[in-house]
Amino acid sequence: MRLLCHDLSPMRPFPVHLECSACSARYETSGLHNLCTGCGGPLLAQYELQRRPALRETVRSRAANLWRYFELLPVDSADAIVTLGEGATPLLPSRLGEGVFIKDESKNPTRSFKSRGMACAVSMAKSLGAKRLAAPTAGNAGAALSAYGARAGLPVFVAMPVDTPQSIVDECRRFGAEVELVQGVITDAAKRVQRSIAENGGFDLSTLKEPYRVEGKKTMGYELLDDLGRLPDAILYPTGGGTGLIGMWKAFDEMERLGWIGSERPRMFAVQSEGCAPIVRAFDHSLDSAPEWERPQTSAWGLRVPRAIGDRLMLRALRDSKGGAIAVPEASIEHAAAELRREGIDAGPESGAAVVAWRLLRQKGVLRDGEQVVLFNTGGDKYR
Ligand SMILES: [Zn+2]
Repeated sequence: MRLLCHDLSPMRPFPVHLECSACSARYETSGLHNLCTGCGGPLLAQYELQRRPALRETVRSRAANLWRYFELLPVDSADAIVTLGEGATPLLPSRLGEGVFIKDESKNPTRSFKSRGMACAVSMAKSLGAKRLAAPTAGNAGAALSAYGARAGLPVFVAMPVDTPQSIVDECRRFGAEVELVQGVITDAAKRVQRSIAENGGFDLSTLKEPYRVEGKKTMGYELLDDLGRLPDAILYPTGGGTGLIGMWKAFDEMERLGWIGSERPRMFAVQSEGCAPIVRAFDHSLDSAPEWERPQTSAWGLRVPRAIGDRLMLRALRDSKGGAIAVPEASIEHAAAELRREGIDAGPESGAAVVAWRLLRQKGVLRDGEQVVLFNTGGDKYR
């Protein structure tokens, strides 16, 4: 840890509190929090930021990992950081087309973007006194939590659908987690986690049910500015729970307040499979929230999230960015992921969906020549 984070200032400069994204109720960061106790909305960390253009250079001079953005993360002191060297993933020009880049999140520990969120959330949970960590998962989040729990020296309980690929179950168990398989989908696994916590104690790290996974994920937005020297014109993001999409949108707002960017924003596109597309359906019907998807079916396990607690935040970000939401045919996903693999990229099926979406948006003229477009490879090809 010292080696990775030796060059951080001892304390963060910006005060931070938690704010309910639905009713604006305010909470202190001194305790463990899940959802707003008043209205059940997700809590987000709000920093009292000031213009600080020079901080950008300080950040860029540090070791290349997620914690170089220390001042903009909720962890109070460098000593409290639980890290496996996450973040600072490569942005690779793709052979798909001119101006197309792949943000390759498979280069994170446990080969997925989930490491960013878990690094931050586990650091906070441990420093706030959690003794046991628990979360449901559609796949990669469970593996990441298992690894970061092991790193923190805390026991981990993970519940996942019974048909989750065996490779993910094995990975969680290799990191010492207690894994339980549940009939149904991730929302059913979430109920099992709540029961386990009621019986055995522990802290719930479900997507957006605690405020800090989104803080880790937002660093993807900060990195895009560092990678390109400007923000891209569009972002195509494979979307299950949508924490990264919400996090990046938050990061752009923070960067503007820091004086690092102006009011420009990338157009944000949520990509889902036609077998489970609650956000796309809600976007197309101009809804503010996304009703549960009946009988979700997709081989892109990370996209099999029939009901997302961050639905309102996602839909707002998609609309405010003048982006959109697009569902791709299930049968096209694997072939497109294989295209990325032929470029040497360890691409999971979720990223295949992003490639298909890119083509569809090009055909429709929504994405145009000369634009810089970032597709997220949210995780490696781990499901076999
Ligand atoms: Zn609230």
